[in-house]
Amino acid sequence: MTSIPTIAPTTDLPVALPDGDGSTAPRPTVYIETYGCQMNVADSELMYGRLQASGYTPVDVPDGADVILVNTCAIRENAETRVIGRLGELRRFMKRDTIVGVTGCMAQRLGPRVLEQAKHVSIVVGPDGYRALPALLDGARRGEKFTATDFDLEEHYEDVVARRFEGVKAWIPVQRGCDYRCTYCIVPTTRGPERSRKLPDVVREVQQVVEQGLTEVVLLGQTVNSYHDGAHDFADLLRAVGAVDGLRRLRYTSPHPNDFSDRVVEAMATTPAVCEHVHLPMQSGSTAMLKRMLRRYTREDYLACVERLRAAIPGLAITTDIIVGFPAETDEEFADTLDLCRTVRFDDAFMFKFSPREGTPATRMPPEWTIPDDVVAARFDHLVQTVRGISREKNLARLGDRCEVLVEKVARDGELLQARSRDFRTVMVPADAARIGDYLTVQLTGTTGATFTGTPVTAAESDATDTVRPAPRAQLPTL
Ligand code: SF4
Repeated sequence: MTSIPTIAPTTDLPVALPDGDGSTAPRPTVYIETYGCQMNVADSELMYGRLQASGYTPVDVPDGADVILVNTCAIRENAETRVIGRLGELRRFMKRDTIVGVTGCMAQRLGPRVLEQAKHVSIVVGPDGYRALPALLDGARRGEKFTATDFDLEEHYEDVVARRFEGVKAWIPVQRGCDYRCTYCIVPTTRGPERSRKLPDVVREVQQVVEQGLTEVVLLGQTVNSYHDGAHDFADLLRAVGAVDGLRRLRYTSPHPNDFSDRVVEAMATTPAVCEHVHLPMQSGSTAMLKRMLRRYTREDYLACVERLRAAIPGLAITTDIIVGFPAETDEEFADTLDLCRTVRFDDAFMFKFSPREGTPATRMPPEWTIPDDVVAARFDHLVQTVRGISREKNLARLGDRCEVLVEKVARDGELLQARSRDFRTVMVPADAARIGDYLTVQLTGTTGATFTGTPVTAAESDATDTVRPAPRAQLPTL
């Protein structure tokens, strides 16, 4: 879904240092460049893990790598265009015997067409084919070319140990594929039908990452709250993962508004590790438009979902995804979207101009439904101003508050550290890089409107003032 929202290269994955295996034989090197959503980031970690177990050494630059893989996104046309361009650029890093492969959703969508468009590519592998990577690379070394895009509904890579790059949190896929059929979305085609991992397997992986020192996990799925492994639903999963000793923060992305059962809301409200943030894709504030998108809820349903979540979880931050310019969008429908944004007062949003994807039902809508580019651009600007304005107002009202942050990494400016509050605020903190992975109490002292600056508060100051823990949550009746 677009519900796992960012379309951005994640080539800044930290360096992976080679693991010594005691052998003096040179290990082939592999570089993976990742595009798209967090599911792709998690899949790249799986691929690195799979290949490392087969004798490869991960490297963080393509220059001279023995294998270069581009893990791709197909959610928007410009993401694919960028990948085609990038494949051309990568030629200059190739040695005579470097093998180039394309993986992920674009590989699944285009299959052998990738081999035709980029002659230096040897393997094209969809999201269910990563187990075969070592064998496919062996074949490519013999000069063969492969396309591996069959779905495997049993494949959860349970025995593959992911090679993690995030230092402070783990992305853990709990569900693959999607059974919804939103008319703009290519994911059901590229990732296949929905299937969930077994709850004990997820819990075991969470225990492992906590033993490695990570204290935050993010459960991933296309409609993650529809998780069901045959015996357990998402409420069971939240409780079981939240009970793992040593886990301090539990997040998930992205849910579908229709799958917030009372059980799930109650589990969120009563599991202390679950953070006070939900990314709740709205897409449109117009019921007629939502119907055209086949989102399967109305404007009223969405609002009711927001109200149930907010009633159960005080201080809940809500972010969303919104599409502008979907076919036949009228001025009134767009006004409904703006209105629902003002009603909900989102903390932030990923906003997209509609981009038709070949193979989706939206491409079969009447051509006269297409919204002119200038209209889409004007609506998009209006929406961004509205959402950012609300976000800025909410953030200004937070100045002076104290909150707990987890220090994640050195910020882009190289001076401050980037930290994250439980309710998903980004806070820049002056502190030594040795504090990465630590929890700090900070006072929010400034905001750009989108992000905060914060000053660490000493334990004594913190004890003397307001608590940094979230307010006690409503005790809901056991269902
Ligand atoms: S079809 Fe709909 S619910 Fe499924 S991944 Fe796409 S946008 Fe999300």
